[in-house]
Amino acid sequence: MIKNNSLAIIILLFFSFITFQITLSAQQNEGKYVIVLHGGAGGFSKDAPDSLKNVYFKSLEEALAIGKRLLENGGSSLDAVEKVINFLEDNPLFNAGKGSVFTSEGKHELDASIMFGKDLSTGAVAGVTIIKNPISLARLVMEKTEHVLFAGKGADELGLKLSVPVVHNSYFHTEEQYNNWLHSRLPKQPGETVGCVALDKYGNITAGTSTGGRQNKMPGRVGDSPLINAGTYADNKTCGVSATGIGELFIRYTVAYRISALMEFKGYSLKQACEEVMYKVLPEGAGGIIAIDKNGNYEMIFTTSAMFRGVATSDGIFKTEIWK
Ligand code: ASP
Repeated sequence: MIKNNSLAIIILLFFSFITFQITLSAQQNEGKYVIVLHGGAGGFSKDAPDSLKNVYFKSLEEALAIGKRLLENGGSSLDAVEKVINFLEDNPLFNAGKGSVFTSEGKHELDASIMFGKDLSTGAVAGVTIIKNPISLARLVMEKTEHVLFAGKGADELGLKLSVPVVHNSYFHTEEQYNNWLHSRLPKQPGETVGCVALDKYGNITAGTSTGGRQNKMPGRVGDSPLINAGTYADNKTCGVSATGIGELFIRYTVAYRISALMEFKGYSLKQACEEVMYKVLPEGAGGIIAIDKNGNYEMIFTTSAMFRGVATSDGIFKTEIWK
């Protein structure tokens, strides 16, 4: 009897402790959450037919609602970023997953990365050809391996080994991207890469980016999106960033980490750091970034004519935009 009572007390104490910890960590961030997403920076015309604009707006809203719902219900920023990006990868409108652009050889090579700001853990894949949702494999690289970045054949094989959904390379093909590529065979303006940054109720920031890269890229070319520090970065001490644009420039200027470093070492605000990098470091037209800092401030800046984007916060903001 005494033994049973002690056991009951221990179980009770254990659950009280867990509840206390959960409440405490939620309070650390006062239950605040923020999520921003992008669907690429580029030259989407204001004169596009309303029906087309509406399809984009509807997709951005649906993606944002997925992330908002998760964060509102106490979900982690990691889950929110992965699920939002999964939705955009499955959506043929965007240059990530299904709907990815064509390489110069008429194939698809996909890149993605994710980073968790609590402990700087991160995972990435580059040049995958059969992975349906590259962001999910990037997350598994982070959680299930001791490495950070897998590329090409090894990355595809890791996907098979970890039993993520795989598809034939032709799954990524869409008529629209095919016709674009067929007619121009040029690197078109950057655009429609997808990314998401979230701050959850526990104060953890996650950033992720997924893309088919740049149209007509040479086989094997890797852009900024799977490169931590260039296209994606997250640190709870400073901010989380996801970039879109001409990857070569974002790699050269270490864009995502540079924003965090300006905050950490120079005391810049998120806004000052993002503006410095987008307006002073990168050339005009390079692309755009979305970012959130540890206090829930957010930025969505671009130097192209448009960037598909959206933001939702615990303060009731819920909006999607395309132009300035
Ligand atoms: N940054 C991507 C890349 O260079 C493309 C984009 O964002 O549109 O691969």
